[in-house]
Amino acid sequence: MTAFITLLTNESYLPGVLTLGKALKHKYQSTYKLAILVNSDSLSKESAELIESVYDDIIDVGDKLIYSSVEEVDTKLGRPELAVTYSKVLLWSLTQYDTLIYLDADTLPLANLDHLFDEHKDLLSTQVVASPDAGWPDIFNSGVLILKPSTDTFTSLVKHIETEETPSFDGADQGLLNEFFNLKTKGSNWKRLPFVYNVTPNASYQYTPAFDRFAGDIKLVHFIGSVKPWNADFLLHGNYQAQASLYDVHKLWWSTFHEHFPGEIGAKILNVKGEGYSLKFGKNKNVWDDDADTSVGGSTGGITDEPIAPVFPWEEREKRHPTRTFTPPPYGEEASEEGEQDKLHDELKKSIETLNLKTSSGSKAGSLKDKYNIDSSEDNKWDPTASLNEIAQLPSKLLSKKREEESKK
Ligand code: UDP
Ligand code: MN
Repeated sequence: MTAFITLLTNESYLPGVLTLGKALKHKYQSTYKLAILVNSDSLSKESAELIESVYDDIIDVGDKLIYSSVEEVDTKLGRPELAVTYSKVLLWSLTQYDTLIYLDADTLPLANLDHLFDEHKDLLSTQVVASPDAGWPDIFNSGVLILKPSTDTFTSLVKHIETEETPSFDGADQGLLNEFFNLKTKGSNWKRLPFVYNVTPNASYQYTPAFDRFAGDIKLVHFIGSVKPWNADFLLHGNYQAQASLYDVHKLWWSTFHEHFPGEIGAKILNVKGEGYSLKFGKNKNVWDDDADTSVGGSTGGITDEPIAPVFPWEEREKRHPTRTFTPPPYGEEASEEGEQDKLHDELKKSIETLNLKTSSGSKAGSLKDKYNIDSSEDNKWDPTASLNEIAQLPSKLLSKKREEESKK
């Protein structure tokens, strides 16, 4: 048995896997099965149904996911979300398949790829077929792989992860698979797939004349990087002139998406909430939440009477109209009256002065500090940028701490 296969560990790549599947199956009429590794815990019922409508074999690996160090992949690639891509190793454990063609969720085939199965039917399970990476062509890009599952290879891969000091030079799957299939054996287990099977038009270096020369031969494009086409429909609307070729391939992804998921269904798919929505954060109760059950847009001072779209996870879970209330600031029409702006400015200045009073020593607040033995020099150490960075790193720190604790168990 052979199949195309992709990976979906959370809903943020859902538009990608659906478009990929439709392109393979309906646009280019593949006769092979479509398989997908999913983390079913992270999928809503609707998303699961959509996946079932496109994919033939749905393999739940929710309890088998393999992670690398979030910190490491964050430091080396700036992409903490790629820690989970170590899970690509699970592909070699799927011995119910003879040959697999693995495609990242952010790839878009531009032709039927079925011939690749025939061309590589003699591949060994110790080998992998992949295109060179545009950024370092002696390394293969791990977004498109042809492979033979095998328990032996799977076991060796797991052992590699567990025993090597640096199993992956980039902290993610590409560094891992290159160490294993390419560098360990001085390249002998990497079989080169032409670049046209994994063209990365948004890599930072582009060889534009070659792009033009071979544009008609491209078999697949791969949208590497943290911003995927489905995160960036602004590219189609805004004044976007910088990279004409990228603009064109993004348009290609969008036209494929709209062709297969027109209108409402497309809008629904693009509105999946992402992994933040599975976090069970509660909300703070605010004064305006008291009598808010029936009102829409808040009872007083709401900026709109229209239903407000849920933004926060708890609003999504509550299944009723959110009731965020904002007091309109006195600019625009109200503030345009003569003197209104100046008044505002004065008030602001006053509050800022009061604020300063509280922190500078020798003031009223300063005496409080003396009373409580508070060191004023600490105040000047607060650096907003550094604090923001600190806060931004919290989720990955917490996550890796949790994993550390779990692995100790
Ligand atoms: N992936 C996923 N969930 C994640 C991150 C990655 O399912 O949170 C899968 C998805 O199939 C994705 C692949 O892993 O295409 C590799 O990640 P990505 O394509 O973002 O890496 P890049 O190609 O940008 O290096
Ligand atoms: Mn990718």
